[in-house]
Amino acid sequence: MSSMLQLKGLCTYYGNIQALWDVDLKIDEGEIVTLVGANGAGKSTTLMSVCGVVPVRRGEILFEGKAIQNLKSDRIVRLGISQVPEGRLIFPDLTVMENLEMGAYLRRDKSEITKDINYVFELFPILANRRHQSGGTLSGGEQQMLAISRALMARPRLMLLDEPSLGLAPIIIRQIFDIIRMVNERGTTVFLVEQNASQALKVAHRAYVMETGRITLSGTGEKLLADKTVRRAYLGG
Ligand code: ATP
Repeated sequence: MSSMLQLKGLCTYYGNIQALWDVDLKIDEGEIVTLVGANGAGKSTTLMSVCGVVPVRRGEILFEGKAIQNLKSDRIVRLGISQVPEGRLIFPDLTVMENLEMGAYLRRDKSEITKDINYVFELFPILANRRHQSGGTLSGGEQQMLAISRALMARPRLMLLDEPSLGLAPIIIRQIFDIIRMVNERGTTVFLVEQNASQALKVAHRAYVMETGRITLSGTGEKLLADKTVRRAYLGG
């Protein structure tokens, strides 16, 4: 069986500066795969290459066997990939409901959209309580929940998450990771980019480590959690 997502020899540049060097990575349907690494390693660039935000200069990105590198972002969303960007980037002046509707803007199946709104309210009951509140008045954790919910409203088969734990308190981080696991168990494949390696490796089936734009290690989450170099570099001991 071929993988759901495959990156083959991916090279991405910012102007003349090469940010990704021959990145090879795959995600099978049903998995949670994480990409961990230090600040500036190239994790966000990898995600942004997949979702068409930064151009790929060489290499291939295959989604369900189809080459998608350098397609426009809206085409990529239509194919079944949606992204939760770093920093959440919800619409602060729109209500929770309106933010969710924005997530479904490419869809025409109105009755199914209502079902999905109920699904995200079941995942995040706090958002149901705050449905008429504007996004900007939510706490950081609630905004992250809204950003995840908005991505789910596109009904993705693959969800990309960029640093969902950034700036959140430990108890909220645990909640967010529990939800990621739950979303995955309900059938969405997950590609998670994180600096918080310990939480990410615990939730992931498989993981890749990135250093200065290159993949340097890969294996099951469990194996990397036990790996001495990973422990020293990313887990504080
Ligand atoms: P972070 O956790 O800080 O987001 P990261 O692992 O996601 O780190 P990237 O943001 O992908 O790393 O950055 C990879 C490299 O590309 C870094 O050297 C960074 O300085 C550079 N870079 C990122 N964005 C740009 C940009 N818009 N223009 C030029 N260089 C960039």
